[in-house]
Amino acid sequence: MIRTTLPTALGLAFLLAVAPATAAPRVVADIAPVQSIAARVMAGIGAPDVLLPPGASPHGYSLRPSEARMLEAADLVVWVGPDLTPWLAGPIGALARDATVLTLEEAPGVVVLPARAGDGFEAHPHDEDDLAHEHEHADDPADAHHGPRDGHLWLDPENAVAAARAIAAALGTLDPAGAPAYAANAEAFAAETADLVRAISAELAPLRGRPYLVFHDAYQYFEHRFDLPAAGSVALHDGVSPGAARVAALRDRVRAEGFVCAFAEPQFEPKLLATIVEGSDVRTATLDPLGAALPAGPGLYPALIFGLADGLAECLADPGSAR
Ligand SMILES: [Zn+2]
Repeated sequence: MIRTTLPTALGLAFLLAVAPATAAPRVVADIAPVQSIAARVMAGIGAPDVLLPPGASPHGYSLRPSEARMLEAADLVVWVGPDLTPWLAGPIGALARDATVLTLEEAPGVVVLPARAGDGFEAHPHDEDDLAHEHEHADDPADAHHGPRDGHLWLDPENAVAAARAIAAALGTLDPAGAPAYAANAEAFAAETADLVRAISAELAPLRGRPYLVFHDAYQYFEHRFDLPAAGSVALHDGVSPGAARVAALRDRVRAEGFVCAFAEPQFEPKLLATIVEGSDVRTATLDPLGAALPAGPGLYPALIFGLADGLAECLADPGSAR
């Protein structure tokens, strides 16, 4: 009796250990920070894939065949939305027809900010065209919803929490047996993120009001959450390279306004930034808004946010204050 029960019990334990992994929905995220949030929600149950490789800019990318196959095989696709990756709407529609698609820009609790313009963040070059465009289609509710919006919404940790809850809800619908675990993981992430926000707010508080330049206008979510506004950006929110006039104006501003720091990014050529700060006292450092230099997985998101805070704090601190 014991001889037969023991192997059966082991076999059952083996099946129980294996079953959740094989039953977990196949999840594909657009970028590493979204994959990280999904990985935290799926902790102990499964692991999501990611479309964009580290170092790729979401503002312009072409999917490789292996990444297209990920979309075809997905049960759940989680992406920020068309304001970050307009080129991805087509492939998702064509390849992920059988999948649930979660667009974080539209998720409950996620706050999306308008793309910034003016005061160092120049007006969108096509503003007039966009106005005309919106008039033309004002009767079409699908088209009349917004002007240009800023897609870098994951850089506000509160949006990351709303994203985690939306991912947990979508997973719970696809995998009802796992629903309580997804929900519990999302709430654990919310608690961890509240601690992170408190720690970073304290770290950055002494640095408020020091002018700095960022490479592309990706950080307004972070700036709002932590009340540490950038004074300008080299490139706009869509990552498109600036013209010579903008570069020349920034060269003048960083000197006239006593900028403390200028930040490069791993996704962009540092040459433009070097041109702007050349011959000035402005310090340079790097900010990594996608976690390109970080290992993928649940730890990437908090490491990314702490990395931004530490990068800002180190560069903006008074050099004499470390004594
Ligand atoms: Zn960007």
